[in-house]
Amino acid sequence: MLNNTTVYIAGYPVRETTQNGLVNSIFSRISASKKSVLFFANTNFIVNCRLLAERFYIDDVVIVNDGLGMDIASILMHGRKFKANLNGTDFMPYFFSESQKKLRVFLLGGSPTAINGAACYLEQKLGHVVVGTCDGYDGIKNASNLVDIINAASTDVVLVALGNAQQEEWILDNYQQINANFFAGVGGLFDFWSGDKPRAPKWLQNIRMEWFYRLCIEPKRLYKRYTLDVLRFLVSCIQYRKQGVK
Ligand code: UDP
Repeated sequence: MLNNTTVYIAGYPVRETTQNGLVNSIFSRISASKKSVLFFANTNFIVNCRLLAERFYIDDVVIVNDGLGMDIASILMHGRKFKANLNGTDFMPYFFSESQKKLRVFLLGGSPTAINGAACYLEQKLGHVVVGTCDGYDGIKNASNLVDIINAASTDVVLVALGNAQQEEWILDNYQQINANFFAGVGGLFDFWSGDKPRAPKWLQNIRMEWFYRLCIEPKRLYKRYTLDVLRFLVSCIQYRKQGVK
C-alpha cells in the first residue's frame, strides 16, 4: 500500500495517514477481498525489525507511525512531523467500532491470563466474536497447525501480540496461507484489554509521555528499550539521512 503519502524512516516505508483514513483504507480493501497487514512502527520496531525491512515493501503491508520517537525521526530526516499519531491500543478499538458487521477474530500472543481477559473484552465491550486464542508462550510452542486452526474457524481478523519483531515475522510468514483479510501486530494490547497492565493516565498520553509511564511500571523489562535502543534508533536515522537514502 505504498503511495505518495509514504514517509521513509530509516529505510522503512511509513504511511502518513489519520485514524479515519486508515480505517477507511482497510475496510475498502476488505470489501474488495484484498488482504491488509498493519504494523505500528515505534522506535522498538525500527530497531528490532531491521532484518525484515525489505519484506515490508509489498502492497498488502501498511506501516503507520506510533509515538514521539517517530516524530523526532521525521523532523530529523524530512524537517517535519507526522500529521497524526497512530498506536494499536487506540486504533484497534476504533477499527472494531467502525465495522458494519460482527467480525470473527483470532487472538495470538500474550500470556494465558492476558489473552483470556482480552478475549472477554473484545466480546463484551467491543461486541465482536473471538473464534480462537493461542497464547504466545507454551501455546504457540505446542501448536503445530495454527494456520489450519485459524482457517477452520472462518476468521476475519488475526491480532498478533508477540512483541517486535516476532509478531511481524509471524504475520509475514503466515498471512498468505490464512483465509482472513486483516492482520495486525498489536504489541501489549492484550495486556491492556485484560487489565493485566494499566495504561498511562490520559494527561500523560496527551503530552506524549506514555512511554515514561510504562518505563516506571516495568523498569527492568523496558530500561534497555528506552535508553540504548532509542540511541540506536537515532543513530540509524542519522545514518540513513547522511547516506541520502530512504
Ligand atoms: N509476548 C509473547 N511471547 C513472547 C514475548 C512476548 O506473547 O515470547 C507478548 C507479551 O506477553 C506482551 C506482548 O508480547 O503481551 C508484547 O508487548 P510489549 O509491551 O513488548 O509490546 P509494545 O506494545 O511495547 O510493542
